[in-house]
Amino acid sequence: MKNKGKLIVISGPSGVGKGTICRQLLEECEDLVLSVSATTRAPRVEDKEGVTYYFKNREEFEQMIARGDFLEWAIYNNNYYGTPCLPVEEKLNQGMNVLLEIDVQGALHVKKNFPEGVYIFIAPPDTETLYSRLRGRGTENPEEIARRVDAATLELSKQNEYDYIVINDVLQQAVEDVKEIIKGRSERI
Ligand code: 5GP
Repeated sequence: MKNKGKLIVISGPSGVGKGTICRQLLEECEDLVLSVSATTRAPRVEDKEGVTYYFKNREEFEQMIARGDFLEWAIYNNNYYGTPCLPVEEKLNQGMNVLLEIDVQGALHVKKNFPEGVYIFIAPPDTETLYSRLRGRGTENPEEIARRVDAATLELSKQNEYDYIVINDVLQQAVEDVKEIIKGRSERI
């Protein structure tokens, strides 16, 4: 019997660079796989069905909730986001480490049911840098940006509920910090 893999849950406010950190981790750690979430938000140019997300309409997503298909789901910015359970369980049972990049509500929900997971919050070096990154991103309209700034403020207030906080000041350093945590070599906060 193979050892079960670890569930690695990464969150942090929109604009903090957690997507970049996760992509880098997936390139550098061969025993790490990404859990692909389902969402009702509209695809962006860089999105690919089945790779970045499974794109669903609200009705399809609500049917998945009713069937109990999700490990967790949350409403973020008026859209549903959820982690399908089955692929996560299968990969953990095969001994792989599974990476979830999800929002704070979802992460804290998973933490309640699965405390043996590793919960990592990616924080900005300072909040002003984060807010200016969010405003400058150019992929969203002003209302959407304002909602993300509000969501970021709320998310930052929950960082102490995580096992680890990694500050994304220098990208490669943040990636190395997360790798050390995954290997079990860092102190919990
Ligand atoms: P985005 O629309 O920028 O891709 O993602 C918005 C937020 O939703 C991010 O904070 C992202 O981490 C989070 N998110 C992505 N997938 C999931 C999921 O399956 N569950 C939850 N709870 N949040 C998710």
